[in-house]
Amino acid sequence: KAEAKEEEEIIFRSQLQPAPIPSDLSLPQFVLQHVDDYPDSIAIVDAASDKQFTHAQVRSLCFNVAVGLIKHFNIQKGDVVCLLLPNMPEYPILVFGILTAGGVFTGANTSSHPQELEKQIKHSEAKLVITDTHSFAKVKHLVNQVPIAIISSDNPPEGTANARVLFDTDATFVTLPQVSQEDLCALPFSSGTTGISKGVMITHRNLIANLCSTLFDLDKVNPGENVTLGLMPFFHIYGFTGICCSTLRTKGKVVVLAKFELRLFLDALIKHEVRFAPIVPPIILALVKSPVVDEYDLSKLKLLGVMSAAAPLAPDLQEGFEEKFPGVVIQEAYGLTEHSCITLSHCAPDHPRGIAKKGSVGFILPNLEVKFVDTQTGKSMPRNSLGELCVRSQCVTKGYYKNPEATNSTIDERGWLHTGDVGYIDDDGDIFIVERIKELIKYKGFQVPPAELEAILISNPEINDAAVVPMPDEEAGEIPAACVVLAPGSLLTKEDVINFVASKVASYKKVRLVDFVDTIPKTAAGKILRRNVKQELLKRLVRP
Ligand code: AMP
Repeated sequence: KAEAKEEEEIIFRSQLQPAPIPSDLSLPQFVLQHVDDYPDSIAIVDAASDKQFTHAQVRSLCFNVAVGLIKHFNIQKGDVVCLLLPNMPEYPILVFGILTAGGVFTGANTSSHPQELEKQIKHSEAKLVITDTHSFAKVKHLVNQVPIAIISSDNPPEGTANARVLFDTDATFVTLPQVSQEDLCALPFSSGTTGISKGVMITHRNLIANLCSTLFDLDKVNPGENVTLGLMPFFHIYGFTGICCSTLRTKGKVVVLAKFELRLFLDALIKHEVRFAPIVPPIILALVKSPVVDEYDLSKLKLLGVMSAAAPLAPDLQEGFEEKFPGVVIQEAYGLTEHSCITLSHCAPDHPRGIAKKGSVGFILPNLEVKFVDTQTGKSMPRNSLGELCVRSQCVTKGYYKNPEATNSTIDERGWLHTGDVGYIDDDGDIFIVERIKELIKYKGFQVPPAELEAILISNPEINDAAVVPMPDEEAGEIPAACVVLAPGSLLTKEDVINFVASKVASYKKVRLVDFVDTIPKTAAGKILRRNVKQELLKRLVRP
């Protein structure tokens, strides 16, 4: 019956040749597979301090870290290790070490609130947290509950261990656990189509498959040629898969930048002769609009391409960028944590047309199947008709950690991942995303789950009900806006509400606009009618 149903489906496939996926390597083995051909080439350099590691050093340190984790921290196969660190050259080495030890890495955002970090650490059942002296303050209250190791100091705070021992551990004569491609390797957090943040179970196979679908012919690249900016956060799948793994596998160099500041960004591009900068639309906006850029001699740039992903790129912004940076190709890509990173892309060098149309998010990558499903009828739609984008491939997550209900509502029994994004495919195979129907808000590309903010709002005894929706914003793409029903007699001001939420969440998750309303429109089952809330709010905002 399932087969018959499948035959009726309208499924779109890549115009590119299928890409073979090796089955006998773990992720670190795959990424570092050919290091013997270019051992002394620089793999990763810190833009600020110039601290660097060669490819051979990355590979040998990954074994030191693996053995160190087992010897000093008793990490066993399947154990989760949390990295609470900014982007730094040691970051991918630590991750590859965790994976080589048979462990699983969960990356935490250093700008998270202590309570958010506690939730992530406890939910993922992390057996160790590796952090620096700066972020330690946010997890200090957990010292008696989980081992914490500090990377940035020889005198770690009381109750913590020194993470530097990991890099000094002798890795000889130790048998490491067997790692299979079906083993989990990463547990990034995403809210998916609904609810709060959940651990996304990503396997070695998922990430290798993702890299195989985007990587071009290795014989065509020379060591050191691919110099990529490592600014997107390494705790996110965009930074880890799309930048660290992809650049190292293609014999390249990652130029690490811990945070975005326009001058540091431009200095890093020029000094380190960066060729490729994967970024997000708010950075493109800053590059187009900020007068700081005019202080620079842009002819010194060696930049060939910029990738824009994580949020929609407005076509006029793309044009503004192309005018200001002539010769720099802007390639859009679309991806999601649940699909291990990139899903649709303009970066397909072997594609007959070279680059997809402006405004589209790109082509279907090799090995992927795509369909667009009518959200009312569940029927798959033909070309040029809107539907929810569904993807099927070996990159699709195993599901949400300890949450089979959320898994089943996101991945159907035939393996289709429902993305919560609506779009269509045109006659040439270019895909356009036109709307996000899932609950997620994206502030500067960062995930803000409305359900999390609503739970915080209604935890305030003076708030009877609340709904959080995205409002368009030129700089951030979207901002979280809250419609709030106050308890009778409450004197809370809009500012009080903003401050209340801000005291409990990472700064990027802050509610930035508040509107007081009498009721929140809901379905009979009590589900917030988000589209109505958003439309009403938009109407009220434009009204003088
Ligand atoms: P994340 O899991 O944090 O990477 O977020 C994934 C979501 O970001 C997708 O489901 C989309 O809603 C959005 N997204 C990512 N890339 C794009 C893009 N190029 N255009 C529009 N939305 C995007």
